[in-house]
Amino acid sequence: MIKENLLSIKKELPSEVKLVAVSKFHPVGDILEAYDAGQRAFGENRPQELAAKVAELSALGRGGDIEWHFLGHLQTNKLKLVLPYASLVQSVDSLHLLEAINAWGKANSKVIDILLELHIGQEQTKQGFYEEEILDILFDGGKYPNVRFRGLMGMASHTDEEETVSADFARIDSFMAYLCDLFPEMDSFDQLSIGMSGDWRIALRHGATIVRIGTAIFGPRA
Ligand SMILES: *Cc1c(COP(=O)(O)O)cnc(C)c1O
Repeated sequence: MIKENLLSIKKELPSEVKLVAVSKFHPVGDILEAYDAGQRAFGENRPQELAAKVAELSALGRGGDIEWHFLGHLQTNKLKLVLPYASLVQSVDSLHLLEAINAWGKANSKVIDILLELHIGQEQTKQGFYEEEILDILFDGGKYPNVRFRGLMGMASHTDEEETVSADFARIDSFMAYLCDLFPEMDSFDQLSIGMSGDWRIALRHGATIVRIGTAIFGPRA
């Protein structure tokens, strides 16, 4: 079913929107099934799992051109499991993490592409930055020469109410536009990662350039 699921989503997705297939909790065999159907961008949310899958695929001599996206909570002592492999860290949600990624980049002569996670859901959980915090970071953007700010990531409220989800996405979309106006010199700040299995069609109406879809491709997670 993985191939069929993937192809039916791809058919609906505008070609300029990137599909990240979220393979967390699913085995490498599932990743290869999607890979063989043409998928190249995969998302993981746990450092050890990402590093283990990269190693397993490498041992099989497969998947060398996979583009890995990291989507989960990242502790600074786990950077070495993620940053060598991730083409985009989508879930930067604290100043401490941002500083650590910049330091790792400096030590390893790399520039790391990241998204800043904006808190948009209605849940009280500390997930992502508030708008003011992101403004402060970007006004001080020169402090992070080994980080490239590529845009914003957000997760909508956990609800079936389409209006609520739509309002969450509208907020991040307009904040993104505001930032692009405010910082025209940040010419690679152009990615808006919103939309998951249950709400990606809504996200497309609010400027998504990346959607992150797991369950609708791979089925429920064990
Ligand atoms: C798990 C996860 C997804 C995918 O969720 P599905 O509902 O399975 O599509 C997307 N984004 C993040 C940040 C996730 O952790």
